[in-house]
Amino acid sequence: MLKIKRKSLLYKSGVEYADFCLNHVEGCAHGCTFPCYAFQMAKRFGKVKTYSDWIKPKLVSNALELLDNEIPKYKDQIKFVHLCFMTDPFMYKQGEVQDMTLKIIEKLNKNNIRCTVLTKGIYPKILTNKEKYGTSNEYGITLVSLNNDFKKEFEPYSAPYLDRVKALKYLHDNGLKTWVSIEPYPTPNLDTNQNLSKLLNHIKFVDRIIFGKLNYNVVSSRFKENHIFYERCTNQVIEFCKTNNIDYHIKFGTLMQYNKKTEVIFKKVIQQPVPVASF
Ligand code: SF4
Repeated sequence: MLKIKRKSLLYKSGVEYADFCLNHVEGCAHGCTFPCYAFQMAKRFGKVKTYSDWIKPKLVSNALELLDNEIPKYKDQIKFVHLCFMTDPFMYKQGEVQDMTLKIIEKLNKNNIRCTVLTKGIYPKILTNKEKYGTSNEYGITLVSLNNDFKKEFEPYSAPYLDRVKALKYLHDNGLKTWVSIEPYPTPNLDTNQNLSKLLNHIKFVDRIIFGKLNYNVVSSRFKENHIFYERCTNQVIEFCKTNNIDYHIKFGTLMQYNKKTEVIFKKVIQQPVPVASF
């Protein structure tokens, strides 16, 4: 894997539900074509020229050294650190990325910094090792469809949908906090075999759900009932979350009316259930 060096790593994210963030890889082998916002930004700022450059990720080889310098500097301001918005921390079949991600999580946790993580890859079982990794991290997957034809076109090199869910469920079954980002949820003219109820039923076990519309896609914006469609889906997600006692946040821009209150979704630490003593 190609390597690069950076001058800094931690930054305050502009995403409404996040706090600090880091991206220890430039590029992403998943090669999503929704389009990928991170790829668009990398092109705009001259970091990559083409799609084929983008899908050859470059690891930030000095990420751990940067963290050693930056953690003391930001520690008092950090509520939690998100991995990642501009790449994928558990990129499918990219062992070097996974190894670095695990070292980063371990370092942050050892410094009492909680992580929220989001991937279209597969979570390794080692995350359940409670001596190495904290138990207050929140592990998320992106899941916007269960339709493999859709995946082939829009997330060609990411992990299969149900494998992502299975790996997430394993973390949940071992007492870790889990969440799902249903974003960017496609309009039916892009995913012709869409089934939101079925998708939600696969992720009933998670602690939190974030739902958001698909932006920057010409075909999606041509869908003539766009607003009504997203309003109906949002209501369905909210109803599902209320019924199943799941926290939720609807991303800014999904509905005409934005509810800012749920932005705090990751700011509240989910308490571990108190074991009931038996005599
Ligand atoms: S997983 Fe995320 S960063 Fe990677 S290509 Fe897909 S949208 Fe872009």
